[in-house]
Amino acid sequence: MIEKVATLVRELPPSGIRRFFDLVAETPGVISLGVGEPDFVTPWAGREACIWGLEKGKTHYTSNHGLLELREAISRDVEANLGVSYDPRREIMVTVGVSEALDIALRALLNPGEEVIIPEPSYVSYQPCTLLAGGRPVPVATRWEDGFRLTPAALEQALTPSTKAVLLCYPNNPTGTTLSRQDLEGIAEIARARDLIVIADEIYHHLTYGRQHFSIAALPGMKERTILLNGFSKAYAMTGWRLGYACGHPDLINAMVKIHQYTMLCAPITAQLAALEVLKSCRGEMEAMVREYDRRRRLVVAGLREAGLECHEPEGAFYVFPSIRSTGLTSEQFATELLREQKVAVVPGSAFGAAGEGCIRISYAYSLAQLQEALKRIRMFVQSRMAG
Ligand code: PMP
Repeated sequence: MIEKVATLVRELPPSGIRRFFDLVAETPGVISLGVGEPDFVTPWAGREACIWGLEKGKTHYTSNHGLLELREAISRDVEANLGVSYDPRREIMVTVGVSEALDIALRALLNPGEEVIIPEPSYVSYQPCTLLAGGRPVPVATRWEDGFRLTPAALEQALTPSTKAVLLCYPNNPTGTTLSRQDLEGIAEIARARDLIVIADEIYHHLTYGRQHFSIAALPGMKERTILLNGFSKAYAMTGWRLGYACGHPDLINAMVKIHQYTMLCAPITAQLAALEVLKSCRGEMEAMVREYDRRRRLVVAGLREAGLECHEPEGAFYVFPSIRSTGLTSEQFATELLREQKVAVVPGSAFGAAGEGCIRISYAYSLAQLQEALKRIRMFVQSRMAG
């Protein structure tokens, strides 16, 4: 039957993460630091709001854009956090996770063959979603020496007359890198001069340590050319609810809603009710989770350095991206041998594009006890390789 599958889909490479975790599933007793998912449960008030909604018979479709009350709450939250004001009626839509928002943003923007700049290492969905939308992904390598920041010079070099958009993910998955206002100013200047759209995946914006997140949409002239994507999965531990949102120019949001109304109709009402409640009343719990990630982050960075791995201090998200070059192994070898010998699962940096080679991604959204045990095992593994 494979010949029946569309060529584009048949030729799409499988996710490097998925391939690796099929291996993990076959190995008993593994500590996995592989998955980018909070170990916390959604705050109770959110779960209760969903249960309450079901009891009251709130089981119907909502507006295609999402519940107006939720869009109003999102608008207030975005303005308070990022300093950008969006009209809840025309400039915000609720989506099935940032995943859907990303998909429909690309489909709404791209004519066949138009290019999207994707800084690498990058989140695994960006390239496939660009291809599925008929566009051409243009990976731009970011470098260890720059702390994996996208530099204006690297961006400038990758531009062609077909460049339509730049996809930014800061705080970054997989590197944990954040960009300062100054870093973003250089990128924004190019976006304005070359009339580019910025798709800003800011799903980790609450998860920063030290410096508060700054959004590119807040820079002069950038709100109208930025599609801001955000969601509830990470900050509020709501991965399974499948809820996100997009903010942007009414023409772009309208175009996205056009696709959404035919393909999704609306995001689940149950998840929308829960999201409305967490925005209203769970800020404190969210901040407590962020403080806990920060504790884990410091433990993991110190542990990796002690094990002999070079490591940038990640400023956001819940990932560390240490270099494994000192071991002489490729990232795939490192991850495979670590799994086999010490039963710890990490993701090879190469799963995030060629620029990720030489590093591994470790998620620290796991308990301190698990992290401590995993670090002990990683230290033994690295020392065995250094000694050899
Ligand atoms: N963007 C990034 C950078 C992510 O890491 C993830 C989840 N791993 C997503 C988007 C998808 O998030 P959601 O659960 O909202 O679809």
